Amino acid sequence: LAARMRAFGTTIFAEMSALAVRTGSINLGQGFPDTDGPAAMLERAVAAIGGGFNQYPPGPGVPELRQAVSEHHGDHYGLAYDPDGEVLVTVGATEAIAAAVLALCEPGDEVIAFEPYYDSYAASVALAGAVLRPVTLRPVEGRFTFDPAELRAAVGPRTRAILVNSPHNPTGTVFTRAELEEIALLCQEHDLIAVTDEVYEHLTFDGVEHIPLATLPGMRERTVMISSAGKTFSVTGWKTGWVCAPPELVRAVQTVKQFLTFTAAAPWQLAVAYGLRHELGWVLSLRADLQAKRDRLTAGLSAAGFDVYRPAGTYFVQTDIRPLGFADGLALTRELPSLAGVVAIPTQVFYARPERGSHFVRFAFCKQDAVIDEAVSRLTRLG
Ligand code: PMP
Ligand code: GLN
Repeated sequence: LAARMRAFGTTIFAEMSALAVRTGSINLGQGFPDTDGPAAMLERAVAAIGGGFNQYPPGPGVPELRQAVSEHHGDHYGLAYDPDGEVLVTVGATEAIAAAVLALCEPGDEVIAFEPYYDSYAASVALAGAVLRPVTLRPVEGRFTFDPAELRAAVGPRTRAILVNSPHNPTGTVFTRAELEEIALLCQEHDLIAVTDEVYEHLTFDGVEHIPLATLPGMRERTVMISSAGKTFSVTGWKTGWVCAPPELVRAVQTVKQFLTFTAAAPWQLAVAYGLRHELGWVLSLRADLQAKRDRLTAGLSAAGFDVYRPAGTYFVQTDIRPLGFADGLALTRELPSLAGVVAIPTQVFYARPERGSHFVRFAFCKQDAVIDEAVSRLTRLG
């Protein structure tokens, strides 16, 4: 294994999902729903395959999907992206993030990311030979946020880009306009590119609305805006994502993307275009369902003795395990199947400095109510 990747073993998601299967535990680790997306959208994928839509689609993506993404961003955010030249379809948000970082960074450039971060960020930065500069999100009155002074201190002469994930996995924070303004100001002062990971854009609760960083003044021209279908339509296995950015930035990302995968699988693209056009009502009901599931799991975990951070978005509840007498989330999650028959994710693996997150464990609530209830009843035995 090349030196730049030696720090990266098996992802925590593979480890913990395998542990769940091996031990027959309830899997509240890896974030994937246990119910399907909208039936009509699934049928579109079947129809696309049956209808012979099975050869290489154009490199930038199927025109119907690029058009649908463009309309979606116009309708929801008032952002205009030209489907020809400002929208690029990718193999999930994961490829988009990797391609963006590889496209933007010279070896030795620095990329800022808020820790804890989705694990592919550090790997993408390492693949580019760049350096990740973490800025820690910490709980303030029950919600994870950053210290603007720490963010400013992370910028140096080699800083090229900042990765911004909101709604945020794993903390559940949805950045406020004031937080986004801090980031926007910094990007403009230091001529940084923002790479935004908005895969949970539709999964926000209690009336909290997701604000894309690109909608802030001066940001559209310096933002690579990324999302995907997996979370919005409960099809995490479809791995269909997209990048929206000004032409020059899209061209840069596409230059890399074409040699990573050339293009993304065809049938899903047609189906997701249909979903974006016709199934946003379904997404609203998903959002309401998930809010109820969040309440169900947070109440259960609190009763079981965890300190719980109530998320404003995403699939995930971040918990503090210290009230239960545990200190190390990695040790606890490896033991949890035998202690309670449940699998969760140790948040420390999402930190550049794991000791800052060693007492946090993440639980997913994108599961059927009976599954959540059973997991909670098992976890209640821990106390
Ligand atoms: N970013 C975040 C924050 C995620 O939680 C995930 C997992 N869905 C991804 C990116 C990857 O998305 P995709 O499956 O579309 O590659
Ligand atoms: N995004 C999901 C999570 O955070 C799963 C990602 C993955 O399996 N790579 O759980």
